[in-house]
Amino acid sequence: MYEHGIWRLHFVCRVSIDDAELPDDGVAGIDLGICNLATISYGDESVLYPGGALKEDEYYFAKKRAETDDSASRKARRLDRKRTDRRTHFLHTLSKDIVSECSKRGVGTIVVGDLGGIREDENGDARNWGKHGNLDLHGWAFDRSTSMLDYKAEECGIAVVTKSERNTSKTCSECGRSDDRQRVQRGLYVCECGLVANADSNGAENIRQKVLPNLACDGGDRDNGWLAQPAVRLFDCSEGRFAPREQVVNREP
Ligand SMILES: [Zn+2]
Repeated sequence: MYEHGIWRLHFVCRVSIDDAELPDDGVAGIDLGICNLATISYGDESVLYPGGALKEDEYYFAKKRAETDDSASRKARRLDRKRTDRRTHFLHTLSKDIVSECSKRGVGTIVVGDLGGIREDENGDARNWGKHGNLDLHGWAFDRSTSMLDYKAEECGIAVVTKSERNTSKTCSECGRSDDRQRVQRGLYVCECGLVANADSNGAENIRQKVLPNLACDGGDRDNGWLAQPAVRLFDCSEGRFAPREQVVNREP
């Protein structure tokens, strides 16, 4: 093409995108909590990550720390550093496991409940975590683990989106109702429509549905038995990784 006294060469490149390179279209929802640090819903399967190992560590270090006479001593600083290293390792391992489990299941989008909500109840007041609710620990842990999740997911081509957790624990993930006909008892969410679910799995499924077309109210009779029977992945202290509960035998230190 000759233009304004200059020859210009135009190239057109046609690039065909292989199907295999298209992002996976599965969606996983993650509910972050206190007893279960993370609960994942894959839409037909739910997996819990109990926070026990992290909590035991925290108690151990808090106790050791209290035993040191001088909080500025070298020993105290060494303990603090070790505690931070172990937390970081735990959270790295947790987010790595979540991303690899998502990847295995063809997940292209992970929806995480907005952390702003976990420190507030439905009235917007700070939640009372009780004697053992270590707000600092969890605030820290959640912020760290979501940013770790972000970059690990990105490496695998999985998008991470954040959605408000508002009403996700109260709403029935099957019929979409949130009135007085549901109750939570001993960790079970029970709705009059017949749904009996692990309460955290129900929350995670609600978070997952936030990016989906309106599935909850389609009137279909999907099998939702999986919501009542989440799988559990535990931190294996000897291996330093997460594995299905059946395979983990944690010996006392
Ligand atoms: Zn219901």
